[in-house]
Amino acid sequence: MKKNRDILLCDLDAFFASVEQLDNPDLRGKPVLVGGSPEGRGVVSTCSYEARVFGVHSAMPMKKALELCPGAIVLRGNMARYKEASRGVRKIFERYTPDIEPVSIDEAYLAVKRGFGCATGKAIHIAVREELNLPISVGVSTNKLLAKIACELAKPDNVGTLWPEEVEALLWPLPVRALPGVGPVAEKKLLGCGIKTVGELASFPKESLARILGSFGEAVHSYARGIDNRELEFDTEAKSISEETTFSEDIYDREAMLPVLMELSSGVGYRLRSAGLTARTITLKLRYRDFKTITRSKSVPGTVCGDSEIYGVARDLFARHSGSPPWRLAGVQVSGFEEGSQMSIFQPTPEEDKENRLTAMRDQLRRKYGSDVIIQAKRLSRKPKNRN
Ligand SMILES: [Mg+2]
Repeated sequence: MKKNRDILLCDLDAFFASVEQLDNPDLRGKPVLVGGSPEGRGVVSTCSYEARVFGVHSAMPMKKALELCPGAIVLRGNMARYKEASRGVRKIFERYTPDIEPVSIDEAYLAVKRGFGCATGKAIHIAVREELNLPISVGVSTNKLLAKIACELAKPDNVGTLWPEEVEALLWPLPVRALPGVGPVAEKKLLGCGIKTVGELASFPKESLARILGSFGEAVHSYARGIDNRELEFDTEAKSISEETTFSEDIYDREAMLPVLMELSSGVGYRLRSAGLTARTITLKLRYRDFKTITRSKSVPGTVCGDSEIYGVARDLFARHSGSPPWRLAGVQVSGFEEGSQMSIFQPTPEEDKENRLTAMRDQLRRKYGSDVIIQAKRLSRKPKNRN
C-alpha cells in the first residue's frame, strides 16, 4: 500500500435517474425509476432520491417499487447516454490525476498526493456540478475502504472524509452493514453471535470470526479496524497527462508560441504535482494549417515535475521540430510516471529552493481559485515589462 497518497472514491448519486432528470426537466423533483418492466421480473436499476423516500431501493423488483411509490415514473433507460455522461465525468477526473480505477459506470477510485485529497474532492464535486449538472459524492481517506465508507456517509451530493484516526469514534458505533462486503447473510450470522456494531466486530477474536464468516472473516476483521491494503487497479490505458489548445487564429510568430507552451507546461505540471507524480517523457504536439499533426517526444534523465523543467523540454522540442508556420494547435503531454519523492536526493540550490516554494504557492492558489487566477497574475506581471 503506497503511503504517500490520498484515496478518493467518487460516486455519482442516483446516476441513471439524475441523467434522465437532467435531460428532461419535467422529471425533476419527481420519483423516477430506471429499470426493467413491472410486468415480468424487472428490477429497479436506479431510483431518484425522490423515490427513495418511499423506501424504494435499487435491485428491488419493479413491481414492488411501484406498490411502494405508485406515482413513480418508470423509464427503461438509455445506456448510450449514460456512457456519454460517464465519459464527461472521467474527463474531469483526469484533470486531477492519471491514477484512476474505474469501478463501474458511475464510480471510480482516484489516487492523489497525500494531503491533496480534500481539496481535490471538493474541486471535483464543484466541477461535476457546474459543468455537467450532476450530483456526485466523494469520500476521501488514505485507503479504499475508508474512502468508500466516507462516501457512503457523505451521500447525497457531498464530500466527506474518514481518516484512520477517526475509525474508533466514527466507524465503530455504526452497524456492521456499514462495512463494504457485509451483506444481509453475513449480518445475520454476526447478529447471531451478538455482534451488532463495527466496534464489536473489531474486538472479536480474528480466529472466531474466520469460523463464522469463512475466508472473508480475516478481511472483515481488518476492515473493522480501518485497515485495507488493497492497491488501486489502474486501467490499462496508456497513462499520460496532456493539455492542448486550438488557436482562434493561426499563429505565425515563433516568439508568440513560447508563452503558449509555457501555459500548457504549467497546466500539465500542476496536474502532475497534484497527483504526486513525476514524469520521464515530455511530448510536444503541433498542428499546421493543413491539419497535418506531429508529435515529438523527449525523455529526460531522471524525472521532472516543475513547470519550468517541462517548459524547457517543450521549448527545445519546438525549436527543433517547429516546421514552418502557421500553427493552429499546440499541445504538451507528460508520461512515463513515477511516484514523486517528497525530497530531492540533491540538496536544492537557493534558486531551486525559491522556485520550489513559488511553485507550491502557485499550486495552492490554483487549487483554491482555479487556473484563471494564475493566468491573470501572469498577465499582470508581464504588463510592466511591455511598457518599459
Ligand atoms: Mg452511484
